[in-house]
Amino acid sequence: MKIFDLHADIGCDVLNKHQKGEKDVLKRYHIEKCLKGEVEAICMASFFHDQSWEEMQEMILTLEKELNEQEVFHRVLTKEDLFVNKPLALMSVEGMCGITQDPEECVQWMYDHGIRLASLCWNEENALASGVGGNPDHGLSELGKRVIAKMDELHMIIDISHANPKTAADILNTAKGLVIATHSNAWNLCPHRRNLMDEQIKTIASRKGLIGMNACAYFVNENLSLADCDHLAMHAKYIKELVGIDSLACGFDFMDFFEDHQESDVLHLESADKAQNFVASLRKQGFHEEEIKKICHQNVIDRFAEYLF
Ligand SMILES: [Zn+2]
Repeated sequence: MKIFDLHADIGCDVLNKHQKGEKDVLKRYHIEKCLKGEVEAICMASFFHDQSWEEMQEMILTLEKELNEQEVFHRVLTKEDLFVNKPLALMSVEGMCGITQDPEECVQWMYDHGIRLASLCWNEENALASGVGGNPDHGLSELGKRVIAKMDELHMIIDISHANPKTAADILNTAKGLVIATHSNAWNLCPHRRNLMDEQIKTIASRKGLIGMNACAYFVNENLSLADCDHLAMHAKYIKELVGIDSLACGFDFMDFFEDHQESDVLHLESADKAQNFVASLRKQGFHEEEIKKICHQNVIDRFAEYLF
């Protein structure tokens, strides 16, 4: 079953390894694993939490260059690209901490270098917005509102996965375009600050947004011995029962390419090459094949095709 993974920190990995003198990181570390797990479409995130604008640019440019130098993945820049019969790579940004002035120019630069999906913050509070680790009374700033307006103008998809509840609500109230949570599960099954409360799930679904199921153990079960692939599928079942099937997606956030990742691994779903185990777990939870297709890729393709230029 083809999988569209809404979140993997591959941009970060590419820059880290380039800085250690490595090259062809996509070819040597990622492409084979993705294809083995039928992860045939993937949002490759450049991840930032305290970087400057120049450092943000460096990571984005490094990933862009690697994508241009390989032929397996086709880059998604327009809605037509979603229907090209090749594996797909959509460049995304997780956190825009480097934007402290001229937000319209910065967002335009990101767009011009292929970014089609982005969040304003990671867990931190920055000049644009407050993440789950920031002041809970702080949400979207005036500068952040200008970023949202520019993203709306360019039809860039807005990710609220790391936003605190105030920021998420502010964005859902402010943005006119597509708002999704690329890698978050259900708070009611695992009360972690990165997971979504029922009201948030309902709001995202009512706006035709998407929620990507996250294969990070801490977000699957409080008891880490139960943080396995089947328990992640239970989050999907819970969300389906709450709001229906049309908002569900995958956003696994695999970290096998980073050091010290083992602690956060979800049993049987540790890396992209294991992604088909999630399909098996969805079947065990009673999902029909048509529903599994929607979760694995069709919901994302449908929504992105409606929204991207
Ligand atoms: Zn994340």
